[in-house]
Amino acid sequence: MSYATKRYWFYAFVTLFTFVVPFITLNENHLLLLSFEKLQFHFMGLAYDVNEFYIMPFLLMFLFIGIFALTSILGRAWCGWGCPQTIFRTIYRDLIQGTLLDLRNNANKQKRMDTSPLENKLKIVVGFLLWTLIATTASTNFIWYFVPPEDFFTYMYHPEEHLFIIIFIATTAAFLIYDIVWMQESFCTYLCPYSRIQTVLYDDNTKHVVYNHNRGGLIYQNNQKQITDSKQWIGTEECTTCEACVKVCPTHIDIRQGLQLECINCLGCADACTAVMGKLGKKSLIEWGSQKSIFHDIKCSIFSKRNMMYFVAMAGSLIFAAAFASEQERVLVNINKPNELYKVQEGIVSNNYIVNIHNTQKQTYTYDVKVEDKNFRIDSFEALTLKPDGMRKRILVISTNQNLSQSDRRDTALKVKLMIFAKEDPKISVVKEISFIYPRTQ
Ligand code: SF4
Ligand code: SF4
Repeated sequence: MSYATKRYWFYAFVTLFTFVVPFITLNENHLLLLSFEKLQFHFMGLAYDVNEFYIMPFLLMFLFIGIFALTSILGRAWCGWGCPQTIFRTIYRDLIQGTLLDLRNNANKQKRMDTSPLENKLKIVVGFLLWTLIATTASTNFIWYFVPPEDFFTYMYHPEEHLFIIIFIATTAAFLIYDIVWMQESFCTYLCPYSRIQTVLYDDNTKHVVYNHNRGGLIYQNNQKQITDSKQWIGTEECTTCEACVKVCPTHIDIRQGLQLECINCLGCADACTAVMGKLGKKSLIEWGSQKSIFHDIKCSIFSKRNMMYFVAMAGSLIFAAAFASEQERVLVNINKPNELYKVQEGIVSNNYIVNIHNTQKQTYTYDVKVEDKNFRIDSFEALTLKPDGMRKRILVISTNQNLSQSDRRDTALKVKLMIFAKEDPKISVVKEISFIYPRTQ
């Protein structure tokens, strides 16, 4: 099977996966969602409130180190096989303009389209409209990762009340149209930062697209100047100089010149050379492999020192993320102290607090508070009934009639533990430590 066929199947899978993920829910939470409206992050069916975003740095660390590791092992496999830019360009250039509308020859991407006949002009407009439709669908799909589909479709009954969503979709779609129709591969070459960092992540074990000049012959002197006089060749060079690999390249480079930052690892050139050399009963001169494996025939391992460091760092960030995820609080509580430090009345010292409770559960619960220190008692707190996702504040007054002063020169801050719990299910609880200010001995 050619690399192109494998790529197209993979693109279909990635597209379907990206489209379906926002609809998948586990325990009534989404597989992946970052809701700015509800200030929640859903990941693998668990919902994290904005106060619990501490899991995010570890996931981001995992993502970035994962990209470094992937690049170190498989080169720019992401660019050729998973990047939306490459997938969208393949849809627009190869599928719509090349296959459906027969406007261009997919085997020769260096040849410009003939735009003079009226028929072609009309076809270009049809292609543009088709791409506009796809770009709008992709932008809508993108917003479902921020506004879940169930809310999105409800909002669309009254789009005038949700203009931000409409503007977001229109802006993203406009960018996709400009990028795919006009910017094209210049985005990869001039704008994408990933192509710039690839060389520092590569080593001799990294797989990428390589022209085997040992077999094919040197086409460029020091990878720079083209050798025009093929008479210099001694006759065993296998490259036919047919240039099929150059014609098919979407980023307009010649892979025989060596590794270049424009190369997106699509392997179109490898397919082209396989077809040419196949007719001569030979193996392709362009392969996907490492410098070591192709030029020195040494089998390389992914467990190099550098990759091992990446794997350890990735495992570490996953372990931290899992550890913090398991500490997820089932009810969110914030306790603040107003300006007044304490009150003393008939030998009883009391402190006031403002308790903010957020019910993150899917059911209604009534929350109460108890103090876990026998020297203190709760003078005032009214249990709070909160609907799912409900949040309210209450005043809490705690007092003591014990003499707890520890100094005759300044006030004392004592640590007191409070438990906030749902009356219906004591497992939904959280313990918080507050400061109780006790006056100095008079
Ligand atoms: S050189 Fe080959 S792999 Fe690189 S972008 Fe061009 S066709 Fe794709
Ligand atoms: S397709 Fe193969 S044989 Fe033809 S020019 Fe490229 S490397 Fe040489």
